[in-house]
Amino acid sequence: MNISHSIQFFAGGNKAVDRMMEIRKSKTELVNLANSKDARFVVSINGAKKFLFVNRNPLSSSSEKSVDSTQQLMFFSNEKLFNQNLHIPNPYALTSKNGFSSVSFSESTEKKLVEEYKSAVQLPYSTSIILLGKIDPALLNLQEDHLPKHVYVWCIDLGDLDQFGKNILSEYFFIKDVDQDLDAQGTEKLIASQLGGVFLPLRAGSFGLDSPSAHLLAVAAALADWNYRSRFCPSCGHKLWSTQAGYKKVCAHGFEGPGSDQKPSLVFNEGSQLLCSSQLAINNYNFPRTDPVIIVGIIHPKGDRLLLARGTRFPGAMYSCIAGFVDAAESLEDAVKRESMEELGLVINRVEYVTSQPWPFPNNLMIGCFAYTDSDAITIDKSEIADAKWLSFDDIYPLVLRKESDPNFKLSKISNPGDHSTFPVPENIGFDIPPSTAIAYYLIQTWCKRQRQRLSSNL
Ligand SMILES: [Zn+2]
Repeated sequence: MNISHSIQFFAGGNKAVDRMMEIRKSKTELVNLANSKDARFVVSINGAKKFLFVNRNPLSSSSEKSVDSTQQLMFFSNEKLFNQNLHIPNPYALTSKNGFSSVSFSESTEKKLVEEYKSAVQLPYSTSIILLGKIDPALLNLQEDHLPKHVYVWCIDLGDLDQFGKNILSEYFFIKDVDQDLDAQGTEKLIASQLGGVFLPLRAGSFGLDSPSAHLLAVAAALADWNYRSRFCPSCGHKLWSTQAGYKKVCAHGFEGPGSDQKPSLVFNEGSQLLCSSQLAINNYNFPRTDPVIIVGIIHPKGDRLLLARGTRFPGAMYSCIAGFVDAAESLEDAVKRESMEELGLVINRVEYVTSQPWPFPNNLMIGCFAYTDSDAITIDKSEIADAKWLSFDDIYPLVLRKESDPNFKLSKISNPGDHSTFPVPENIGFDIPPSTAIAYYLIQTWCKRQRQRLSSNL
């Protein structure tokens, strides 16, 4: 067996997008990038719950069709966006026609604060525009004749279709006389047909992508979700504005000029009273969040078996490593020990870090570990774990081989997580393991590799 992918699915590795943190405070540079012929835009809706993909079946725009083959994100150049009548009020675009606002300043002595607000923007209808960064277009399967050396990829999240669908159709797509009975699903289909693609749910679409596109999508999903959900100041409840092209939020208290929710404006008035503590303390700003999750392969005291468990909510016959969120003020080791005790009643005496994986549902970081115990007596927490087994190399290795030999195996399984029939129980084995895109699979595969080395060295 050849263990080839130490870079986890959704991670970038040496093909990671360059997030261009150095230029994000410069409004001038952001405007240049947004208007560049090398700018490309991906489109999502409802805070990254769905992304626009190339429609592989143009006769149907249904997003409910199963995803059974490789997917491709739709990328738009500036020219293509305008040709297809999408007129997002892009605060960075020179040709913007609709209402938007960015900060304008009078002279102020509050220099540091003003610096932070310089790239602040606010868009109507919970829309976000986020710079994802610079990437080699050859990695993204762009269907273009002449590829530039780099593309600057942005994500446009169209915001809340449930709440603002009709406004979005008329203001962004110039579709007037919208049918009053049109629901969010109808709005979504209309937008997809305008743009010539199909919206797919994040989970279903992402697992059909190649690895570099999946990485880019993971960045977009995490940031668009965070921007969408972080609309109000956690300190004072006032509206937050986006700054640094989607990487920071700042409280607008004391900064707002005349405007409305649909056409907001932001003006810094010298001498205005800044009443929000978030603007004055060192923890002024809101940043994209990442939630750490430990995922653990527990190794038997004799070293020859791996403990896999079946969560009560797992589909079909799947057994996997146990996992849980890192709690407040916990080290990774603390979290591994606590979860192992809570779920299986096992005392862990050593923890070994193996690898990590971004998991954009919406913004977790999976931290893969092996854990070592002196006891094999397990006590299952039935509220979380349906069953757990100590499994040998001979139990697990056939499943790893099957997934190695059939790279598409994961796709049919991921397409519909609620459908248990897509997780067939392997004949004569009685359990299944996670797909090769999951870090749990990598832990299982790594353990098998080590066991094989151990067995061969014992010959
Ligand atoms: Zn505030």
